[in-house]
Formats: sequence, C-alpha cells, structure tokens
Amino acid sequence: MGLLSLGTPLTWEEAKPHADLVRERGIEQLLNIWKKAKSKERDILLWGDEIEYLVVSYDEDSKDARLSLRQAEILGDLAHDEELRKAGGCVPSLQEINQKPGQRVPTFHAEYGRFMLEATPGAPYGGMLRDLLTVEPDMKKRRVIAKQHMTKNETPITMTSFPRLGVPGAFTQPYYPPHGPIARSIFVPDEIINPHIRFPTLTANIRSRRGSKVCINLPVYYDEKTPNPFKDPTVQYDLSDYPEDGDVRNGAAKDGHVYMDAMGFGMGSCCLQITFQAKNISEARTLYDQLCPLGPIMLALSAASPIFKGYLTDIDCRWNIISGAVDDRTEEERGLKPLSENKYVIPKSRYDSVSTYISQDPGFRPEYNDVDIHQNLPLKQKLIDGGMDEPLAKHFAHLFIRDPLVIFSESIKNYLVENNDNFENIQSTNWQHMRFKPPPSAEDAIGWRVEFRSMEVQLTDFENAAFSIFIVLLTRTILSYGLNFYIPISKVSENMETAHRRDAVLSEKFYFRKQVFPPRYANRNNKGSSTSPGGSMSNTPKPAELGPVEDEYCLMTINEIMNGQQTPDGFPGLISLIESYLNSVNVDVETRCELARYLDLIRKRSNGTWETAATWIRNFVRGHPEYEKDSRVNAAVNYDLVKAAETLGNGEGKGTSLWKGLFEKR
Ligand code: ADP
Ligand code: MG
Ligand code: MG
Ligand code: MG
Ligand code: MG
Ligand code: MG
Repeated sequence: MGLLSLGTPLTWEEAKPHADLVRERGIEQLLNIWKKAKSKERDILLWGDEIEYLVVSYDEDSKDARLSLRQAEILGDLAHDEELRKAGGCVPSLQEINQKPGQRVPTFHAEYGRFMLEATPGAPYGGMLRDLLTVEPDMKKRRVIAKQHMTKNETPITMTSFPRLGVPGAFTQPYYPPHGPIARSIFVPDEIINPHIRFPTLTANIRSRRGSKVCINLPVYYDEKTPNPFKDPTVQYDLSDYPEDGDVRNGAAKDGHVYMDAMGFGMGSCCLQITFQAKNISEARTLYDQLCPLGPIMLALSAASPIFKGYLTDIDCRWNIISGAVDDRTEEERGLKPLSENKYVIPKSRYDSVSTYISQDPGFRPEYNDVDIHQNLPLKQKLIDGGMDEPLAKHFAHLFIRDPLVIFSESIKNYLVENNDNFENIQSTNWQHMRFKPPPSAEDAIGWRVEFRSMEVQLTDFENAAFSIFIVLLTRTILSYGLNFYIPISKVSENMETAHRRDAVLSEKFYFRKQVFPPRYANRNNKGSSTSPGGSMSNTPKPAELGPVEDEYCLMTINEIMNGQQTPDGFPGLISLIESYLNSVNVDVETRCELARYLDLIRKRSNGTWETAATWIRNFVRGHPEYEKDSRVNAAVNYDLVKAAETLGNGEGKGTSLWKGLFEKR
C-alpha cells in the first residue's frame, strides 16, 4: 500500500467536498517535484522486490489451518528485534547481519489484511549482476526472521490467496463473526482488516462511494460432483442489518459463480512486486512502457490462486478479484444509470491494467494509445502550463479523475507544496499493473522509479527470486538493445483478461510484438552479422516504411514468447534475448551458472515441463482423499495444502514428491 498518513480520517460524505482541493494540491505537489527532479541524471540502477505473506495459525488437534490476526504483535516484535535476539541468542543480531558485506536486513511492513506481512530487502539491490545471487538468500532470510517472531503454531506462507478466507465458520484465529459495520460483508469480519485507521476508512469509503458493497463473481470450477447449475450456498439472502444486505436480493450473486462482497477478498491476497530506479526520467518512462505488455504474460506465468472462499474456481489468478474488491465506481460511473452527479462513465476499476503509454521514444506510435481515456482536463492544463509534456500530463490527468478515498483532516490544514501527501493520496490508490513513481520529494536522493505489479507471489523463494531476476535481466536487455515491445494498449488489457483463464500459461495465446529490434540491429542482421541479439531479426522496416499497426503483432503462446518461435523469421524468445545480453557483458562463470538456474525455471514453466502453483494447488486438492469432488475445499484439505505450502516455502520439500509435484508435470 502507499503512504500511511496519520490523523483523523473523514468519512466519504465528509471527504467528498474536499476532493477537488486534494486533487489540485496533489497536482501542485507533483509539479513541484517534477520541475526540480525532471533533470535528475545518472541515478544508479537500484531495484527491490516486495513479497507478501499470509500468517497462518495451525490447530493441530482439530487439524485446521486458519489466518492468524496477530500482524500488529508480530510487527511490534520485529521492531524490537535486537533485544529479542539478545535474549534468545539463537540467531545473529541485525547488526551482525548488517556487517556482513552484501547482506541486508529485511524490512517488514503492514498490509491490508491483519493476517498479512510484507517484506522487502532492507536496502535496494544494486546493478551488479553478482548482486542477483543475494536475492534468494535474502528472501529466505526474511521468511526465517518472520517465523522467529511468531508463535510455535504460526507460520508465514507465500500463497497468493488463502483458500478458506470467507467460508462459513471459523477461518481466522481468533474467530470473529462476519457482518461488521465497516465492510458489511456476509462472509468476512471487519477484524480481518488492519486496524490502522487508514484501512477501515478505505474499506468503508469505497463501499459508501460506490453505493453498495463491492461485488466479485468468479466462475466456479465444475468438478464431477459440483451441483450444476451451481448456486453459491453460502450467500445469505434474508439479512437486513444494513442497506447493503439488499445487494444479493438485487442480483449481486450470479449463478454459476462464487460470490464475494468485501475488499478483503482482494487486498487480502499476496503478490510479488518489483520496483526499479532508472537513471533518469526518460529511461523510467521507457521501462514503464516496455514492461507494460509483459504484465499479463507474467501474471499468467506466475498464476497461483485457483481457490477463493473455499471453492475451486475456473480462474488461476487474483488480479481481477482485487480489481473488483476496490471498485469504488458509482452506478453512474459504471454506466448503469445516466450521468447526473458524476462526470464520467469509467470503464475500469481503480485497480486495473494500464490504459496509456507515457514514453517519448522513437519506437512509440500514437496508434498504440488506442483507448480513449478520461482525463481531468483542468488539472492536465495546469501540468501543461507548468511545462509538462502531453503524454506524461495525460497519464497523471487520467489518474486524477479518481476521488481521494481517505482524507485526514490534518492534511487539509497542514498543506505544504513541498510535501507529496496529496499527490500520493491519488497516486497510491490508482493500482495499475505498472506504477510510475516520481521521487518522493524534489530534493530526494531517490530517483524516478517504475514498479512492475502484476505477478502472483510464488510458494518458494527459488521461484520468487527467479521471477524477480527474470524481470531485472529483462530490463537490462531492453535498455541495452533498445528493444521495442509496443502493442496497442487495448491488446494489453485483453491479454490481462486472457491471463486469468485456467491454465492460460499453456492453453491460451497472447498478443505480442513480432519484431522487437530497433532498426540498427535489423540492418546488421540483413548482412548476416552474428553479433545481433537473439538471431533472427530480419524484416525490420525503416521508420518511413511503417505499415499498419495490426501487422506488428500476432497471437503467441507463452512458450513462444519466452522460448521462441520455431519458424526461421520467428520471434527469438525473451530468454534467448536475455542470454544474448548476458553473453555481451562481463559476468563470471559462477554468476552465469546461477542465473541460468533461474532462467530455466521461466523456460520450463513456459513450455509446460514445470507446473504453475495454480495447477499444483488445483491438482493437490483434486487428488486429496478427503476432497469430495464437489469444488469445495474443506478444512481437512486446506490444512494439508497449507502444510505443504509451508514445507515448500521452507525449502524442505526439495527432492520429495511434493517438490516434484510443483516442478515436474506428471
Ligand atoms: P510500495 O509499497 O509503495 O510499492 P515499498 O516501499 O514497499 O513500496 O517497496 C519498494 C521496493 O523498492 C523495495 O523493494 C525497496 O527495496 C525498493 N527501493 C527502495 N528505494 C529504491 C530506489 N531508490 N530505487 C529502486 N528501488 C528502491
Ligand atoms: Mg504490498
Ligand atoms: Mg510495499
Ligand atoms: Mg509502501
Ligand atoms: Mg509495491
Ligand atoms: Mg479488468
């Protein structure tokens, strides 16, 4: 989540009249930062990941795995780590870890769910390829440290969604009944929300602004004994404590679907995010655009969440669940009623795929921005008057069509143009699959950054490291060769939907660019040069010969995107491009071999040799003796699944059938 301001939060009704003020100030703050930081140069490559954990609590007597709600206590403990270590004496102190070169002390953060933790490397990684070898050990260390601050029956797991969040009965430890005043959910208690006032306010204000509870329907996975047609039996139609209890009587829960009604179903899921610092603003804009088409591909490849609310569903990824879970659009904005109070019909939730490219690279063609997006035009004009160029002003003007969801009265009173709180209010509640992060302040040492946000968290740190390292190497390769992955932005959104489908990684095709090389390499290739990256790259048109945009891309499998097309002029595959890059730089043998292990994971997951976590989880459930073939993931199956996830996460399953199950397709 973004910045946490402290103070007295306003309800939606109280906040609404201040929305324009917050937006105006946000734009002033942005302009202040942009003016001073736009000419920042030569920032070094820094990057870091974020891993989110579920904290589970076992009841060994009843063989149950629940969500532990002890986030605050665990984080409190972690904050006093030094003393604890001295008292316990069993692990190196943070200071000791710090003194070892190349090692960092992980940082732990709160997240939306009171059963979640987030951990980042204590300091970002640098640009040395050798540094990449510290990523997996760092991730492992985080898991160990987190575990040390939990009780004996608690453990952190890196599972994207908790299978039994929202089932009737107890799925948290301790138990709280659902249907509290904040989320008003039929399924989850308000006590699953991080009690920091920002989070309950965000939850309540999204509901109030929308005018109903959020509404998520996932197609159920029909198994042998699943009732057909399926009607979600956990929906209660007869409640009348809140006006929102009427949502289901008005058709909120769709037949054939698992119905969910609270922010926690989305924001309670875990992901893997990567943030890069670029050397300057222009490189950051390039990376933002070039990584954008990779978002859906990496979502499908990292798919890890087939179960929601105790049911196997027919999707493999969390993204759209979060999208629905924070969808604050009113009926007017969703196009269900004619516009009167609101300004725009908005096709997407605040949490959705990117809708506009921002770079001014020569490879960009206006046709790629093929989606008409709403923009806050008066604020855009302010940015333009302040000197900002149109594509960047458009990007921010699009984010600024949204209302601020949580306003603290203190931040209205204590306004400073030098701060970024009003800007972040809007920026950090626009959850797109890429985020363009300006420096926190005009004077800051931190530069222009880009965040890659679509990936699901993986069960093991080997995989989390592999996905992170793959993206880092891809950015190096993109910048080194000036690669061009542009496709029309509408196709990126279509790919995002495709990525959710069950087993999309092997069964679906995605729009992808055929020719990614800049003209300078194409010319060399035409002369048969062997120095060109990736081998095949003929047919690159010179800029003057650009044909229709539709000819630039085609549908490819993820295997083709990663491992290349077999045809002579086919796409060489991202992995071979990365390998060409690695061949072109100085890298020692050990580093090269280790990096090859990580690339191998991406290669084998793409060609189906190794399973996604989503497939592994689905098969684990379906093969469990206590699964009744009715799509339901009962407590016994859940317990064994969570235990298995823990074992794999601790790296203890290596060589066992569990590990083989995840890494080798049977
Ligand atoms: P958010 O939750 O707002 O996306 P976090 O602070 O949780 O951001 O995580 C940001 C990630 O970026 C961390 O992994 C951190 O190590 C990394 N990071 C921090 N500073 C920089 C920087 N200057 N450049 C690149 N990455 C950075
Ligand atoms: Mg997070
Ligand atoms: Mg974070
Ligand atoms: Mg943060
Ligand atoms: Mg983040
Ligand atoms: Mg969508």
